[in-house]
Amino acid sequence: MDQQTFSTKPADLKGPWDVAIIGSGPAALTAAIYTTRGAASTLILGGEIWGGQLMLTTEVDNFPGFPQGILGPKLMGEMRAQAERFGAEFVGQNVTAINISQQPFQITVNSQQYSARSIIIATGAETLWLDAPGVQKLIGRGVSSCAPCDAPFFKNKKVAVVGGGDSAMEEALVLTKYASEVTIIHRRDSFRASAAMQREVLENPKIKVVWNTEVTEVKGELKIESLELKNNKTGETSNFPVDGLFIAIGHKPGSEVFKGIIETDERGFIKKTTSDKRQETGYESATNVQGIFVAGDVHDARYKQAITAAGFGCMAGMDALKYLEISR
Ligand code: NAP
Repeated sequence: MDQQTFSTKPADLKGPWDVAIIGSGPAALTAAIYTTRGAASTLILGGEIWGGQLMLTTEVDNFPGFPQGILGPKLMGEMRAQAERFGAEFVGQNVTAINISQQPFQITVNSQQYSARSIIIATGAETLWLDAPGVQKLIGRGVSSCAPCDAPFFKNKKVAVVGGGDSAMEEALVLTKYASEVTIIHRRDSFRASAAMQREVLENPKIKVVWNTEVTEVKGELKIESLELKNNKTGETSNFPVDGLFIAIGHKPGSEVFKGIIETDERGFIKKTTSDKRQETGYESATNVQGIFVAGDVHDARYKQAITAAGFGCMAGMDALKYLEISR
């Protein structure tokens, strides 16, 4: 199909735009595809480093539509091209402040001001990686934070998982479908995961647990070879050969700039408004501020997948379109 623009852009990049989308991962770009195709003028404030977590990934094998897999950066490039094809304008800078006391909302990017009638927050979350030598160098070379994405690469291999929360339990359980041996390494002598998840893990014969132990170094040149472990009770160190290390120690949502303006939970994940309010208004992705919607990992500590983020982006895009129609 030929290049086509569905929405009418404001004469000035400053706006007012119908929708400003903050972020540029799968949630943000999917939202933009929906808002532009819904004829809403759309500005994407995509950040200095655009594309989100998939830009740091190699092969993506679990995004539908790519039977041979697709490289993360390639997938993001395609999503961005699709959003831009329908007229979304992309600004590669970080938002520094938002002002919701007036309509249209004001969005600041350093000394530049943009305005928009509605906002979709899709700033994603960052994986918290272990602060140990070797980790950064070996991400994608045996070090991962996503078992549903990478477990099939570890068929009949020996893997370790770090963490003691629900994510670590889930990673370990997913890995048992492929790996020959799964070891959870946890810094304390008890898990914080839910009782049901703990039971499932502790009853699984493929999973071993090493308690009171920290990973002090990840060793390997081109790929991971072993872990240096330290028992934090005895101080004893040991070498633990592995083919893979899955880090599940939490995520940091990109919500700093919205602090005190948009409600978050105690870990900083943006909260959707109450379920009563969502049912009453019909906006599933609404935040506590009317006209501001949320999508993707910045509000989702549970699924954290590109495809769920894209789904949330679709919902937020549709909610914003409905809001714009009603509030015009
Ligand atoms: P989490 O509950 O915060 O657990 C993080 C784990 O990592 C903790 O066990 C923590 O140890 C450990 N940890 C943190 N920093 C570490 C470090 N520097 N070195 C070693 N270990 C470290 O995070 P999560 O498991 O990602 O879960 C996040 C939220 O999502 C939770 O509310 C969880 O219930 C929810 N979730 C639910 C499901 C489900 O329902 N199926 C699945 C996934 C996540 P300590 O325990 O010693 O602090």
